[in-house]
Amino acid sequence: MSGDVDFARRLAELVAFPTVSSASNLALVEHVEGLARAHGARIRRFADPSGEKANVLVTIGPEAPGGIVLSGHTDVVPVTGQDWSGDPWTLRERDGRLVGRGATDMKGFLGCCLAALPKMAAMNLKVPIHFAFSYDEEVGCTGVGPMAEWVGANAKPRLAVIGEATSMDMVNAHKGGCIGWCHVTGKPGHSSQPERGVNAVMIAAELIGEISSIYAGMRQGPLFEALDPPYSTIQVNQIEGGSHGNILAEHCKFFWEMRLVPGESDDQVLQRMRAFADRLEQGMKPVDAGAGIRFDIQARIPPLAPSGDAALEAEILSLLGRDAPRAVPYGTEAGIFAAAGVPSVVVGPGSIADAHQPDESIAIEQMAACTDFLLRLAETATR
Ligand SMILES: [Zn+2]
Repeated sequence: MSGDVDFARRLAELVAFPTVSSASNLALVEHVEGLARAHGARIRRFADPSGEKANVLVTIGPEAPGGIVLSGHTDVVPVTGQDWSGDPWTLRERDGRLVGRGATDMKGFLGCCLAALPKMAAMNLKVPIHFAFSYDEEVGCTGVGPMAEWVGANAKPRLAVIGEATSMDMVNAHKGGCIGWCHVTGKPGHSSQPERGVNAVMIAAELIGEISSIYAGMRQGPLFEALDPPYSTIQVNQIEGGSHGNILAEHCKFFWEMRLVPGESDDQVLQRMRAFADRLEQGMKPVDAGAGIRFDIQARIPPLAPSGDAALEAEILSLLGRDAPRAVPYGTEAGIFAAAGVPSVVVGPGSIADAHQPDESIAIEQMAACTDFLLRLAETATR
């Protein structure tokens, strides 16, 4: 009942828009809106401040709470520097798979949604089905927020399915993330007289030492056994600072990233880092009022915790023909929908191993299974 032709054609159309995160997605959004309007859908756009990108929320069926959200991101990672065997923006078929940038991550799911939409629109829906397509997921899930909040506060759906690749398993938990830069500003001077200046590199090293002890504490728990590793982590992976071997460093910056298990809050970790920085500043400010420490948060993705609604999870598992939920180590927009009050799971076609790769591809069989699942899920909105 899925109609391969439809989802392959829809995917080919989507892949032809080179919507890398740095580019506008508006042409793709207009294309989606055109397809949806032809079936009587209602459209809401959530534009970014530049006006160059937008989330789009497409709704079919009545305006009522208790509907279903099908969500995915429209942006893709770049192809520069990758060895593709053909044009990444022209979908082609090879060995039962469809090849093109975004095939798995995650225009494949969007193609399934758009292929299923006309059939859903023809159903006698008692509650709405919302298609929530976002931007800027690949740069830290920074686009979807206003749409997720609007959906949680106004549409009040009973469920959101985020279609990141899970090989059509149901994922009900993943880690969250919080990433950013720490900027340390010191006061330069000759290194023979350390007390007359503030050495930004030495201060950064103390902060990183504190981050190491935060990490050591995380390894003690809380633990979430379905995840690998089962504890939260925090790491510093990039650092820049100083200008010369015998000059007290005026600047140092380092990039930190934390990955948090469900139940752990980035706020608490950030507060501990800030409190330590405040103590260090007490020694810096008397030397130079301009010296100090600043944390710039670049992105935050809340962890996804199991919704706790056993009946809802059992219903999705049974529609999928699966026995048990899974947890995954990567963050998705499901954490953001869940934080907005919408019970959320991740279910999508394709394998995450194919994401971001040259010659990214998706099995046609996975897209067929996903389209069938979406139509079975839509049937629940007719009862
Ligand atoms: Zn993705």
